[in-house]
Amino acid sequence: PIPVLTIDGPSGAGKGTVSRIVAKELGWHYLDSGSIYRSLAIALSQKEADLANVDQILSIAQAMDLAYECDDELIVKLNGEDITAQLGTETTGNVASIVAAIPEVRQVLLQKQKDFKKPPGLVADGRDMGTVVFPDADFKVFLTASAAKRAERRYKQLMEKGIDVNIHQITSEIESRDCRDKERLTAPLAQAEDALFIDSSAMTIDAVIAQVLSLVPQ
Ligand code: C5P
Repeated sequence: PIPVLTIDGPSGAGKGTVSRIVAKELGWHYLDSGSIYRSLAIALSQKEADLANVDQILSIAQAMDLAYECDDELIVKLNGEDITAQLGTETTGNVASIVAAIPEVRQVLLQKQKDFKKPPGLVADGRDMGTVVFPDADFKVFLTASAAKRAERRYKQLMEKGIDVNIHQITSEIESRDCRDKERLTAPLAQAEDALFIDSSAMTIDAVIAQVLSLVPQ
């Protein structure tokens, strides 16, 4: 059996950073499931799709050819085109969370996510990794932090990438996205029963990583 470690939680809790480092440390593959929803958001905007037209969204989702290249940073190619730079914007995140609420969209993207499970193991980061995509995962974490802390981290992250943003705007966007993610009917953001709960508000990234790694016997 191929071991899977799932890390779910709201945006800005540190999932991405923690998952990437833990995957590297274990020598396992890494699935950034948010990037799949984000890639769909980009594909939809390229095609100027109507977000109310589910059939159109589904056919674009089905036709998506995604390729991941792991250099120093993760490079994502959509139908051959490097979309890494657009992937992290708030607009992309918002559209991703709007279409992520459509059950048929989640169904279409399910197999793409399951395909990441390959030897020697997988670290999967998202909202429903431990509940829906990999319910039988060997190790599960639910990572969260206070809304203020998450907004602050997200703000710093975007500024570092040279994306100029306003902290108030980030806070309100994070809140509305989290609300949409928690209240949707299909695969809402929720802690799996058997997940270890970690609140990273007052923790360093290193401390979070150490706690996550302590779950996996090495
Ligand atoms: O994690 P990230 O901010 O990249 O995710 C973008 C959006 O994609 C989330 O707000 C959420 O709506 C959606 N998503 C999801 N299920 C996942 C990962 C992301 O619904 N497993």
